[in-house]
Amino acid sequence: MARKLPRKDVVIVGLGWTGSIMAYELADAGLDLIAIERGPWRNTATDYPPGYAADELRYRIRHELFLSPSQTTFTFRHKMSEAALPIRSWGAFMPPNGVGGGGVHWNAETWRFLPSDFVLKTHLTERYGVNFLPEDMTIQDWGVTYDELEPHYDKFEYLCGTSGQAGNIKGTIMDGGNPFEGPRARAYPNPPQDQPFGHALFGKAARDLGYKPFPQPSGNMSRPYQNPLGVRLGPCTYCGFCEWFGCGNYSKASPQTTVLPALVRKPNFTARDNSEVTRINVDSSGKRATGVTFVDAAGDEWEQPADLVVLSAYTIFNVQLLLLSGIGKAYDPAANTGVIGRNFTHQTTSDVVSFFDPAKFVFNPFIASGAIGMCIDEFNGDNFDHGPHGFVGGGYMGHVQTNGRPIETTPVPPGTPLWGAAWKKAVKENYQSAIKPGTGVHGSMYSYRDVYVDLDPAYKDRFNRPLVRITMDFHDNEIKQNKFLTDKFAEIFQAMGAKQVHKEYRKAPYDITKYQTTHLCGGAIMGSDPTTSALNRFLQSWDVPNLFVLGASAFPQNAGYNPTGTVAALAYWTADAIRSKYLKNPGQLINA
Ligand SMILES: Cc1cc2nc3c(=O)[nH]c(=O)nc-3n(C[C@H](O)[C@H](O)[C@H](O)COP(=O)(O)OP(=O)(O)OC[C@H]3O[C@@H](n4cnc5c(N)ncnc54)[C@H](O)[C@@H]3O)c2cc1C
Ligand code: SF4
Repeated sequence: MARKLPRKDVVIVGLGWTGSIMAYELADAGLDLIAIERGPWRNTATDYPPGYAADELRYRIRHELFLSPSQTTFTFRHKMSEAALPIRSWGAFMPPNGVGGGGVHWNAETWRFLPSDFVLKTHLTERYGVNFLPEDMTIQDWGVTYDELEPHYDKFEYLCGTSGQAGNIKGTIMDGGNPFEGPRARAYPNPPQDQPFGHALFGKAARDLGYKPFPQPSGNMSRPYQNPLGVRLGPCTYCGFCEWFGCGNYSKASPQTTVLPALVRKPNFTARDNSEVTRINVDSSGKRATGVTFVDAAGDEWEQPADLVVLSAYTIFNVQLLLLSGIGKAYDPAANTGVIGRNFTHQTTSDVVSFFDPAKFVFNPFIASGAIGMCIDEFNGDNFDHGPHGFVGGGYMGHVQTNGRPIETTPVPPGTPLWGAAWKKAVKENYQSAIKPGTGVHGSMYSYRDVYVDLDPAYKDRFNRPLVRITMDFHDNEIKQNKFLTDKFAEIFQAMGAKQVHKEYRKAPYDITKYQTTHLCGGAIMGSDPTTSALNRFLQSWDVPNLFVLGASAFPQNAGYNPTGTVAALAYWTADAIRSKYLKNPGQLINA
């Protein structure tokens, strides 16, 4: 029997990027709130001192900062006809755990989506006709536009101190920036990071081929910075231990280095760590959330009553909690009804590994940050005519090699033996002169009727609840897109002077064992029609109006960028709607 805690104005589930942003905004509005976080509390000074943080085995290989599959996991299958099996070791994606969420160990590649991404269905059908889209593709417009989100993107970039070169300020195209980006109100708060030799060479080759390369927008500081909340960050030292690691230098934008120092000073904010929310409680009408139930580290169960519930537990855990709490109608792909679980997507990434003459090229891959690199956007979204190619979608591509860490950085030419003296010789010869850019082709994944999440009928978690089941595979559209992009990407390395270029196309079937980014999206999507979306344009549940669901679970499909800029902009957009509309008149903000 759960013990009942005193009522709060707001309970926030998960204290990662979106939970921290929302907690600050609502605490600032004077609300009494508590955040409940599944993982431990984490501090920069005590958890990531530079003296031991640079430990590849501990953080990258053994995933110390991540959720352990023994705590909870998902089942996976490619097709509805298959039986799903539990994931026992993370591969394709890596669920975060602990205060700061994925913001602790992200790269900090900080993108905005294209204006056309938010009106994708309308845009593509107007340009190419409805018959151009695959029949089972279920893409939708978001219900919010780029122009509406622009001030909120800006707010996140200034919170983070994003380093970058603007490409479009109020409609004026700026030299050296991304000419395809939507208009922004002002420049980035900090100039771009310096580019190492190989990255700069990629930029030159891309320019020589007629593209407009620009530096990756980066949450790694190019100089000291004080954000609007008065929190200070230091300059990045290009240490190369960034993605998968916390930053001991206070140089990577994370909840810990941008918002939590200001939030913990608010007397109306409290947090409970090591506590997993197991259910969102609703009253007998099913239309009002009464709070949440959670289990603490000792295994004791608690009920936290609240007037407003904010679900910010990351894409798949948001969907899991909605399904387990019976909120919203579960998606049924056969009948094409219901909303919770539909339009689940990931990302279509691939790489090109290039080998250069070691006598002429010394790249020193150790010198890098998590979001370093030169990119091009010519083949993203609908920035090019898809008519002749027979697919939709695209992605940015770039030389974004973020490290030369010794365990994983062993690129060797195809045909090299997999072990032994010949392998060692090849590693030694190529270590400084090969380029392997992480996820160099960063493509969109659009939504399909048979890609979704639901509750597994066979497997249970440690609380005896059904695990979430993922049904996902790449469709022909994404495979074609990836081949086109990977070939274009390889041309740039050839133009740089590589002696050998090895293309690693993304192919079906989806490989659950190989890392492909932790950009899971959808499952509780936003929209303007309650029969095809779980949330309205303010990320408010259509079914339970005092429940708001933050994160990429709201994306109707995934674009060809990293998601967090958009995830955070939506969190600010929702916070603004709660403060300016909902608190004045609590109830459904949109009449459908
Ligand atoms: C290695 C890595 C690199 C990445 N790099 C980039 C990048 O460069 N650019 C980019 O845009 N994105 C990147 N991402 C993605 C980015 O981390 C996420 O988009 C972002 O963190 C999402 O924010 P969120 O608040 O939705 O979720 P999170 O930041 O994951 O926070 C959710 C929190 O909720 C907690 N939680 C979950 N379930 C429960 C529960 N039941 N009860 C209580 N608490 C719960 C989790 O422990 C977690 O702390 C990266 C991700 C990873 C893993
Ligand atoms: S590369 Fe820069 S931002 Fe990243 S961990 Fe190192 S010092 Fe911090």
